[in-house]
Amino acid sequence: MTDRLETKFIHSAGVDAQTGAVNVPIYLSSTFHQESIDEFGPYDYSRSGNPTRRALEETIAKLENGTRGFAFASGMAAISSAFMLLESGDHVLVSEDVYGGTYRFITEVLGKFGIDHSFVNMTDLDEVARAFRPNTKVIYIETPSNPVMNITDIEIAAKLAKANGCLTFVDNTFMTPLYQNPLDLGADLLLHSATKFLSGHSDIVAGLAVTKDAALGDRLGFIQNSFGSVLGAQDSYLLIQGIKTLGARLKQSSESAQKIAKFLHHHPVVEEVYYPGFSFHPGNPIQQRQASGYGAVLSLRLPDKNAARIFKDALRIPVFAVSLGAVETILSYPATMSHAAMPEDERKKRGITDGLFRFSVGLEHIDDLLEDLEQALEKVRVKSKLSIAN
Ligand SMILES: *Cc1c(COP(=O)(O)O)cnc(C)c1O
Repeated sequence: MTDRLETKFIHSAGVDAQTGAVNVPIYLSSTFHQESIDEFGPYDYSRSGNPTRRALEETIAKLENGTRGFAFASGMAAISSAFMLLESGDHVLVSEDVYGGTYRFITEVLGKFGIDHSFVNMTDLDEVARAFRPNTKVIYIETPSNPVMNITDIEIAAKLAKANGCLTFVDNTFMTPLYQNPLDLGADLLLHSATKFLSGHSDIVAGLAVTKDAALGDRLGFIQNSFGSVLGAQDSYLLIQGIKTLGARLKQSSESAQKIAKFLHHHPVVEEVYYPGFSFHPGNPIQQRQASGYGAVLSLRLPDKNAARIFKDALRIPVFAVSLGAVETILSYPATMSHAAMPEDERKKRGITDGLFRFSVGLEHIDDLLEDLEQALEKVRVKSKLSIAN
């Protein structure tokens, strides 16, 4: 009998074999005493392996149906370490609306090592098919994308990649293993900013990677140890604790997000709402097929920067900050936050205008959130009318 994910979230890290402690101990030890000069125990140095981190790494591998899991000091450390599987002369195809930090790494760091890239619209698989080059080695997908929530068909993209001799990497941060399992859809490697939903409390910065096959796992393990951007034991512990409540948290937040998306969609001052749960969202049929939920993140567009300023100042409950996926609702302004690393014309092309907000729904009471949004949008309506009148 295989347990369902909600049960695995709680029990995957296991109890402590020595004491029965129900929480994995935090092993604050950089080094480990060895009994013999010929043979070492399972741990020798915490960059190479730490028991608390190992419990986390085994947990995420189980949750994502992979062979090996790896914990890194941040989502970007996980992502950049994964790209180190490539070699000089290789080429990668990347979703054009990737996370801003990934965009920065690909455009400003990867090239220095002789690795070339093309950005493609991953929702248009004909365009993807045409973009492969003889030296393309990886396609890199983020779905739903950030912040306009485009949906890529992971299964078809991974098939296309395989037919062209490429690996498929998927950033699964927005869906988490609760709603989407890219390795089951043909991806070879998946990545998480565990800073977001997996830890869930805006307390740590962390990244995770999971590989599907053992050989790729060995290669990434070698890079993790060589590059050394590992997650510390205390943060590994906090992340294990965060994962235990992921099921309950993400379900409630997603349910609230659905209601908020609907409310915003019907509000006259909101120009557009991006949410893959809408039946009229172009990616909705794919999302329904490949994921079991829509997540807790949506974006909304107000007319302009003036309206954006009024809205932000009037909202009482959300924190106004970068990041997402936490117990508190987080309002972000992609133009100057997550996508600040992107040149203005590139941003505009991707729909990241001066009126766009990202809204990551937390665990506050849904009626409080709706009332807060309602009063803030009413202020936008009244004040922008005044500014038009003037
Ligand atoms: C935040 C984020 C990242 C980067 O992760 P860090 O933990 O901030 O380094 C990567 N991808 C997505 C989709 C993110 O939201």
